[in-house]
Amino acid sequence: MKTIEHWVDGAPYEGTPTGRFAVENPATGEVEAELLQASDADLDHAVEVAKTAQKAWAKVPLAKRVDIMFKMRQLVLDHQDELAKLIVAEHGKNYSDAIGELQRGRETLDFACGINAALKGEHSFDISRGVDIHTLRQPVGVVAGICPFNFPAMVPMWMHPVAIATGNAFILKPASATPSAALLTAQLYKEAGLPDGVFNVVSGNRTMVTKVLEHPGIDAISFVGSTPVAHIVQDTGVSHGKRVQALGGANNHAIVLPDADMEFAAGHISAAAFGAAGERCMALPVVVAVGGVGPALAQKVKEHAEKIKVGPGMGEGIEMGPVIDAKSKDFIVSLIDDAEQRGSDIVLDGRSLVIPGHENGHFLGPTIIDNVPLDAPAYKEEVFGPVLTIVHADTYEEAIKIVNSSEFGNGAAIFTNDGGMARRFSLEAEAGMIGINVPIPTPVAYYSFGGWKQSLLGDTHIHGPEGVKFYTRGKAVTSRWPSEQSYSATMSFQRED
Ligand code: NAD
Repeated sequence: MKTIEHWVDGAPYEGTPTGRFAVENPATGEVEAELLQASDADLDHAVEVAKTAQKAWAKVPLAKRVDIMFKMRQLVLDHQDELAKLIVAEHGKNYSDAIGELQRGRETLDFACGINAALKGEHSFDISRGVDIHTLRQPVGVVAGICPFNFPAMVPMWMHPVAIATGNAFILKPASATPSAALLTAQLYKEAGLPDGVFNVVSGNRTMVTKVLEHPGIDAISFVGSTPVAHIVQDTGVSHGKRVQALGGANNHAIVLPDADMEFAAGHISAAAFGAAGERCMALPVVVAVGGVGPALAQKVKEHAEKIKVGPGMGEGIEMGPVIDAKSKDFIVSLIDDAEQRGSDIVLDGRSLVIPGHENGHFLGPTIIDNVPLDAPAYKEEVFGPVLTIVHADTYEEAIKIVNSSEFGNGAAIFTNDGGMARRFSLEAEAGMIGINVPIPTPVAYYSFGGWKQSLLGDTHIHGPEGVKFYTRGKAVTSRWPSEQSYSATMSFQRED
């Protein structure tokens, strides 16, 4: 059985584990590896290493930091096949989706390659006689990133390129089900020339995460995961004096107006609801069909969904893999069963799908449920599986009320050909990311990503300009030089490599 260790100080690290987590292949249900769970002493060691490394790293000139980011970007590209295969083996998503995840993740490395521009300060001369002021942003210190299982490479990449490029050291706590991409990332950073100790990976259970949240040596925490855990992270982290951004769960809605191009909408809704088996925080699990378009739309989405080839992620032409584990599958099935018992119509039923040769894999087929009552858990809760629920509204006003009554506010979309309605929706929808005929409106990495309400606790969104703000502290320097003597000096503009 393969053992997956931590990565501390530029090398694999065993430490003194408190236990081992069984890492399963969701397509087969087989345990493929054991992940070491760090002890308190292991975490203390990693934090000490990171603190020391950060002090030196913060002094490395920007030009050199950017060079390393460019190298890292190229290495992630060169190793994307290897990274994608690790993601498929542990998460289950299909290979092309894993490649897509890496492309989106690499965008943050692109952004980090231009960090020198993002870190520019401001300067005013003579704010008073002979007095100037300038601002700078300095790293916060040691940052911990606590990540979910569903994007093993991309979500950490929303964090570490910006945190590191701005001069911090980073400790990544990957999800226990999908740790391997993090460890390959660590090797690539080393190859890119990042000094040892600046990027570390430490795995562990809830007790270890609690210790991360309380650790006096950790200055900031980026969390992405479910809302209940986001609350724990926010409450514990803030009460221990850390800055925290905690991105939570989602239940994204799309309104479909009667004037929408139904063919276009159906294809995109199918892809957004069932891609990655619905295990995306920007997936589209709810459609609000306006003015009686629901039944026809449901049939059109069904035509697309029925063609989705489900199976193990490396299989030829596979478009959708299994869900992460048996517990998750049981939960999703229980929500579909409950909706059925409440009188909803199961337009497409993926509950009994079995993939020959993969009978123990955690597969579900695409499922469409129409006429779901608004108090049904299948509508209200985050299903996080390949399930599309359709609810109905007579008017746009009724539809937007439904959208805004969700406790979550990650993404929201509208399908329409009416620019005025689209504009109104973009202003009225209570969500952080809005799509106009775009069902998964995930911003590119030079913008920032984040939701509203229970989808994001804390005030800064992740990556892009808000990421720079989160990982740095502002400083204003007011200066005066009483002598104001002129002198000449030889200045060198050569890079310090
Ligand atoms: P999760 O909340 O169960 O776990 C996230 C991380 O927290 C993991 O590293 C886990 O080990 C740790 N953790 C779990 N329980 C903990 C506890 N009680 N105390 C301390 N740490 C704990 O989430 P998940 O199931 O891995 O991922 C799916 C969830 O993540 C979904 O809710 C999804 O919407 C959300 N997500 C959100 C975004 C976003 O951008 N808003 C992006 C991706 C995923």
